[in-house]
Amino acid sequence: MPLLKLSHINKYYHVGDTVTKAQDDVSVEFRKQEFVAILGPSGSGKTTMLNIIGGLDRYDSGDLLIKGKSTKNFKDSEWDAYRNNSVGFIFQSYNLISHLSIMENVEMGMTLSGVPAAQKKKQATDALIRVGLKDQMYKQPNQLSGGQMQRVAIARAIANDPEILLADEPTGALDSETSDEIMQLIRDLSKDRLVIMVTHNPDLANKYADRIINFADGQIQNDSNPFEEEQKQSDFSLNNTKMSYWTALKLSYTNIRTKKGRTFLTVFASSIGIISIAVVLALSNGFQKQVDQTQSNALSTMPVTVSPTSNDPSAMSSSSSGSSDNSNNKAAKNNQVLAEKSAEDKAQHTNKITTDYLDYLNKMPKKDAKNIAVSYGTGMNLLREVNGKYKPVTFSTNDPDSSSTSARAAMSASTGMNGSVYPVERNGKQSFLRTYYKVLSGSYPTKSTDIVLVVDKDNTVNINALKNLGFNVKEGQKYNYKDLVGTKIKVVANDDYYTKLPTGNYVSGTDYSKMAAKANTKTLTVKGILRVKKSGNSDGILTNGIAYSANLTKDVLNANKDSKVVAAQKKSDNNVMTGQKMDKAARSAILTTLGGDSTPTNIQIYPTKFKQKDKVLSYLDKYNQGKSKSNKVVYTDLASTISSMTGGIMDAITYVLVAFAGISLITSMIMISIITYTSVLERTKEIGVLKALGARKKDITRVFDAETFILGFGAGVFGIVVAWALTFPINAILENVTGLAGVAVLNPTQAVILVIVSTVLTMLGGHIPARMAAKKDAAVALRAE
Ligand code: ADP
Ligand code: MG
Repeated sequence: MPLLKLSHINKYYHVGDTVTKAQDDVSVEFRKQEFVAILGPSGSGKTTMLNIIGGLDRYDSGDLLIKGKSTKNFKDSEWDAYRNNSVGFIFQSYNLISHLSIMENVEMGMTLSGVPAAQKKKQATDALIRVGLKDQMYKQPNQLSGGQMQRVAIARAIANDPEILLADEPTGALDSETSDEIMQLIRDLSKDRLVIMVTHNPDLANKYADRIINFADGQIQNDSNPFEEEQKQSDFSLNNTKMSYWTALKLSYTNIRTKKGRTFLTVFASSIGIISIAVVLALSNGFQKQVDQTQSNALSTMPVTVSPTSNDPSAMSSSSSGSSDNSNNKAAKNNQVLAEKSAEDKAQHTNKITTDYLDYLNKMPKKDAKNIAVSYGTGMNLLREVNGKYKPVTFSTNDPDSSSTSARAAMSASTGMNGSVYPVERNGKQSFLRTYYKVLSGSYPTKSTDIVLVVDKDNTVNINALKNLGFNVKEGQKYNYKDLVGTKIKVVANDDYYTKLPTGNYVSGTDYSKMAAKANTKTLTVKGILRVKKSGNSDGILTNGIAYSANLTKDVLNANKDSKVVAAQKKSDNNVMTGQKMDKAARSAILTTLGGDSTPTNIQIYPTKFKQKDKVLSYLDKYNQGKSKSNKVVYTDLASTISSMTGGIMDAITYVLVAFAGISLITSMIMISIITYTSVLERTKEIGVLKALGARKKDITRVFDAETFILGFGAGVFGIVVAWALTFPINAILENVTGLAGVAVLNPTQAVILVIVSTVLTMLGGHIPARMAAKKDAAVALRAE
């Protein structure tokens, strides 16, 4: 049985309208062992026949039988395995892979079929010794002469010990002396295999070959020693080839290494997208942090506030649109003027803060608002023991020497008169002070009778606050913490403080020591000195001076609301202390100061987080739903304008920057595609050689995917390193300009994600050219120059 049988093989090439019959009904058989020379003029179809025999090219019709087995229904994988296991190719132009060493070139076929390293090395060494290159084994291909390169190509072809050796004009590029040497070598190799050699040199053919076939116009003209006997089929089996990812990576790596400059430029250019995205993200991380901090600081100083009177923003807008209507009202037409309230006055809204409203506030979800501070205008009857004697004191920060008693009474509703109220967290803990204030001395308050002294961030305290507490102070004087912490102040109930004169008027008593000892008298203790935490921020919410718990005012209110003096004042239109006539406003102020009015003067609601504020506002809005205008409670939200602006601008800037950075990432992806595409064009020959050695389409794709993997990964890592390095000068500049330190922070997770994105995008961009490379016809690839 012949080893190979070509039966009526046809192969046509269609170019435009012309049809070239490269193989025109070729039938021929080859023995298991012989040296066949195929002679013929250029263009007669010799290479085409060799490529068809070697499985590099497909025939249009007819059949090629290998050991009697038809190849008509061969799958790609079978052709790949056939080329890898059974066929060795030798080309006129050697076709060595220039970026691989000689050893690696010879090993490539075995590398593709997954031969273990040790065996591969031994077989390659044996083959190189056999072709007489024992001493050149470790050189690079470009360090060899043409004859030596052809010997390497022959070693590569026989390293796997194939049954068929196909040589296409192996001596075409060599001088006659070297040609003889190579022919000798091929003749030796034909002793234990089938060798089919194409040549257009009849002398060499006659000298070395066992059999000469003359070829012309795609047809066999003459065969000097045709095969004759016919036998039955035998089994023919093949091992599949497979290239490991590692081989693909190594192949690409060595290729990339040979063009360092270009690789670096590619990596650099494609990393620009990654660099810009990484820097933008780093900056936005930092800015977001700054914005969040600013927001929560702004929030701490600007809670949502409900005051007895407030500007109704809806009333403002409707009245202003109304006034534009007025411009063509009837009065103008009749040469008259119309008396109208100002827009501001119209917008003035009096809030009815009822117990219903307070209950509603208390039912607000605790996760939305952690603190609700309710201030009341009530005064407190305070005493402090100075040098063994009790004397009246106040929490006021007003100058005690310049303000008259009556002026104080009128101003009693202002917090300046009464010190500040700190909110108690709604689930009992004192987190408000802990969040915004730090203890300089003493401790945070725990009970309603614990009060604190709040100082400015430079440790100053309003001199009046100390004077009003009965301290004998001079301006610029310094106080030790320990002299202030622990100070005790008595709160006396109205009934113990005021006595009724026979005239019916009430006056404050004078026996302070007796008052201090009464059962209803509470003792307040200055628990600690607190200072606002954030240095860059304002002085905080609480005014400098004494601050006390909202619960204390409630207790005082409860103690005094039914006191005799309050009851008397409620009945009388005159001032119950002076007996003087007074107007409604003055009367209500006095009543408030005495503790006869439990309407809050101010409510401050602190959302838990900035994000929670919208919930708080919608909760407050819900109260007003369906209520008449006068029953609505209008709040003020100062933080909203500021924070929504900064947040929105930040987001917008980040989106724009990320979009720009994304564009450069896409650009670099397109660039990688182009580079991979040129690489495919450049390495066309290599693709052909790999295919001749049995590489599958998948393997070729893998080689180029591996290359783009290296480029993409390299660009990602390089980009991250550069971006990280850039954060230092960027932070230095930002700190110089804005005073904010450490704004740009590269998040490690984002860095890893960006490297992955770079790798994946680059591989995507390179994959299409890689697929194109894989689809390349091996025969065409090998013909490429
Ligand atoms: P030889 O090796 O004998 O010089 P070839 O087998 O290379 O001849 O070519 C045989 C004929 O087929 C030539 O006319 C050549 O131009 C044509 N041919 C070979 N390959 C192609 C191709 N890919 N497309 C079109 N024509 C081709
Ligand atoms: Mg040819």
